[in-house]
Amino acid sequence: MQPGFADLPLPDLRLRSGDTLLPGEGAYALEDPCLAQTFAQVPLAGAAAVDAAVDAAQRALRDPAWRDLAPLARERLLHRLADAMEADLPRLAALEALDTGKPVAIAETVDIPAAIGWLRSYAGWPGKIAGRAGTLAATPGAFHVYTRREPVGVVAAITPWNFPLVLAMWKIAPALAAGCTLVLKPAAETPLSALRLAELARQVGFPPGVFTVLTGDGGTGAALTSHKGVAKVAFTGSTLTGQAILAASIPDFKRVTLELGGKSPSILFADADLKTAIPQAAMGCFFNSGQVCYAGTRAYVHRSIYEEVLDGLAQIAASQQIGPSADRKSQLGPLISARQHQRVSALVQRAQASGIAAVGAGSPLPGTGHYLAPTVLRDVPPSAEIAREEVFGPVLAVTPFDEVEEAIALANDSAYGLAAHLWTRDLSLAHHAAAQLEAGTVFTNCIMLADPAFPFGGMKSSGLGRENGIEGLDAYLEPKSVVMAI
Ligand code: NAD
Repeated sequence: MQPGFADLPLPDLRLRSGDTLLPGEGAYALEDPCLAQTFAQVPLAGAAAVDAAVDAAQRALRDPAWRDLAPLARERLLHRLADAMEADLPRLAALEALDTGKPVAIAETVDIPAAIGWLRSYAGWPGKIAGRAGTLAATPGAFHVYTRREPVGVVAAITPWNFPLVLAMWKIAPALAAGCTLVLKPAAETPLSALRLAELARQVGFPPGVFTVLTGDGGTGAALTSHKGVAKVAFTGSTLTGQAILAASIPDFKRVTLELGGKSPSILFADADLKTAIPQAAMGCFFNSGQVCYAGTRAYVHRSIYEEVLDGLAQIAASQQIGPSADRKSQLGPLISARQHQRVSALVQRAQASGIAAVGAGSPLPGTGHYLAPTVLRDVPPSAEIAREEVFGPVLAVTPFDEVEEAIALANDSAYGLAAHLWTRDLSLAHHAAAQLEAGTVFTNCIMLADPAFPFGGMKSSGLGRENGIEGLDAYLEPKSVVMAI
């Protein structure tokens, strides 16, 4: 254990369904990626535990203590959970940092406050979820028609390891605001913040079965997402797993939202304000050690500023303080696992073997742990593997361009369509490019802004549906029309 986390109390690691303890069905080791050392054993939920959790969630859906809770009381309960998270912020942040390897100072100032912000934002919805009233348009006679917006049912949420609590909350907050019940399977690597959240939810009075956490691996996730009692699956993770989940949803017509991978472009036009564009383009790729679904991992830079931008990117890459999660000076942590480290290193090695050159010296790395230095690759051909595959590590592929339309075409030449970033001082160019870019979110002169107020999601292979915004709430509501003859 890192000395900084020696006194950190772990949440209860036993499997539970609602408030009922279940025996674990096997266990797996939880590792600190900064030390590459195991520090806990976590239960691996099997089919019986998944059944029990989904049954409890179905019972909770019909339980008057949840179903008949007045919307304003549901708002208050969600705010009480947000209050409890605020009071518990240092511990939630430390658990997140221990599990993911991200610097604890970033978990304290970015991750946990974001999760609380999402919960508070959606906590304002229950009393405002209303249908519409009207008449019929094409049918003669007198009718009164109204619509109801009902909770879709039991939700299975499956989350990845890069922003464990934030991405879980993108699902939990709208699902509970809509009146659904939810079973969350966090990534095997990072279950601690979710388990702590379940403890807090119990403490503030959520009825049993409304919010359950099941620990386990892809097998647990597959058993949960294909369970007949689940009405909707909300998933963030890889494109391959997203395809498996979508296929498994077919027999029961489960509702599905998928936030998948990305290979998001960053375009630096000739008139970009380089003082902000260079650091933003660099950290838009390197933040969280590149483990960000909408990281800007392909930079297209106008030839007139190409060498200056490459120098700036390389300097920022080399200046990062890379270190363990408990160290408050760390700016970047390790990758999540040996497997992820091997995958990213192999992609960089193959790029270099094909003749692609790295720029700059690279930052010093700690001796243990799955650390990888931020890497800038220059003159990357658009057809190169490193320009097309999602890397999920701090690796930026840079390519020059000459014409605006060429840059837009290069940016759109991808199977993915999650985000795009552009830097220019020309308003017309910014609006033109934003309209042309095939991406769920276009950032102009800024990066990495997600907010509960606007929808987030992907075009093409980057996913299906949207999270956040009112669109994110609608994904947990089923419309019903009621027609009454007068
Ligand atoms: P993954 O998609 O396998 O795992 C994400 C989650 O899905 C985990 O909770 C996992 O246990 C669960 N899961 C795995 N198989 C499942 C199945 N068949 N049914 C239901 N749930 C299942 O991702 P990974 O293996 O952890 O990472 C592999 C790659 O995915 C990374 O290198 C990266 O490129 C990408 N990734 C993307 C994101 C993102 O935010 N878009 C997040 C993590 C990883």
